[in-house]
Amino acid sequence: MKRIARAMMAALAMLVSAGTGYSQSADKSLERFREIYKELVETNTTLSAGDCTLAARRMAGRLKTAGYPDEDLRIFVPEGHPKEGGLLAALHGSDPSAKAILMLAHVDVVEAKREDWTRDPFTLVEEGGYFYGRGTSDMKAQAAIWVDNLIRYREEGYKPRRTIKLALTCGEETNSALNGAGWLAQNARDAIDAEFALTEGVDGDLDAQGHRIALEILAAEKTSQNFVFEVTNPGGHSSRPVPDNAIYHLVRAVDRVSRYEFPVQLDDANRAYFSGMSKIVGGESGAAMAAVVKNPEDSVSVAVLDKDRNWHAMLRTTCVATMLSAGHATNALPQRATANINCRIFPGVSRDAIQAQLVKIADDPAVTVSVPEVRGPLAQPSPLTPQIMGPIESVAHEMWPGIPVIPSLEPAASDAQFLNPAGIPTYGVTGIFTDPDGGHIHGLNERVRINSVYEGRAFLYRLVKLYADQ
Ligand SMILES: [Zn+2]
Repeated sequence: MKRIARAMMAALAMLVSAGTGYSQSADKSLERFREIYKELVETNTTLSAGDCTLAARRMAGRLKTAGYPDEDLRIFVPEGHPKEGGLLAALHGSDPSAKAILMLAHVDVVEAKREDWTRDPFTLVEEGGYFYGRGTSDMKAQAAIWVDNLIRYREEGYKPRRTIKLALTCGEETNSALNGAGWLAQNARDAIDAEFALTEGVDGDLDAQGHRIALEILAAEKTSQNFVFEVTNPGGHSSRPVPDNAIYHLVRAVDRVSRYEFPVQLDDANRAYFSGMSKIVGGESGAAMAAVVKNPEDSVSVAVLDKDRNWHAMLRTTCVATMLSAGHATNALPQRATANINCRIFPGVSRDAIQAQLVKIADDPAVTVSVPEVRGPLAQPSPLTPQIMGPIESVAHEMWPGIPVIPSLEPAASDAQFLNPAGIPTYGVTGIFTDPDGGHIHGLNERVRINSVYEGRAFLYRLVKLYADQ
């Protein structure tokens, strides 16, 4: 998953033209990159009918052709999941005391039905300045760039100080699927050991006219956690109702959830986001951002930001009712009523604290609050050190002078949720600028600007080198 359309971007003023022509179209190396990208997009990697292991083998084949020895290429296939495998690869560094850096990408994609799409989702189509196809944006462009980086570095005889590792994984897009990054963290922790990892998360932002606004960097994300509200009751015949009714208890508690807001919290990521965005957005919203950074209890300014669902979610933990189930017959008093409450927990806040708060919010001893399952560890923010931000800022400044680099906090979750708790801080950085519509990721006719992909390739090629030589 990647961040989907930033609500107010379309309304933002233009800053700098994104330009059009990309002069390297004749470049053989660019043509080879395009072939890798095409091969990835055209390898169906949906959970239902696709095969991530095949995509991983194909990328391993590319690296082998480029001269990577077999011992530096490892296809891993979790037991019982033959089509949900991935690839580990490495370009060895010269300094054995320096920790590696990890380029991480999921190669699985969201389902796509040919009959719903205008073009075949599993054919890379170039049209009107865009690449179309499932995964063109989320996230096979970056996966192809990682493979292409390794090929180019080797071709040049580049000897990095740190080892550069690559992990292509499966299972990021489907909650119920086996998650490859999580599997690696548990079963091959040494193989992915790194000072930090780079992956998807947020892109650069374009306005509706295709002008660059900001390059966002994902440094923190929230944890998704379900809670269940449950009320049980002796029930009885519906012709003789009593006030003590399981459904009434439940809906009142759920209604109290709807009216509760968790307190505003600031960490490095959302503080940097709102500070940076306040200047770009300007007006009432910009002023509110600056005010909230100064004083998170400024309720008037918080109310201004809360009108935008993305900003609202970036400011705090949220909990929302997502499913209801109650009663067993139309003519009986309900014996059981349950609601699923999906919470997105702010980085650093514990599950227990949220559960305790939900008990308070429900405010009814008849309502129990339980945790149905724990999917993974709690998300931890990745520190925004100069070591991380310096190279991003310097390459971005050279490529896109005047465009600010803005750290961000993601309300949803990515593979960082598995690597951060394993001690590998993970950052979302792509250098790919996307439209305000988010490129229809997860939806129909997914697309990304051709120039943006090629620019992202140039950006990440340079960025990884800077990190590898640190
Ligand atoms: Zn993704």
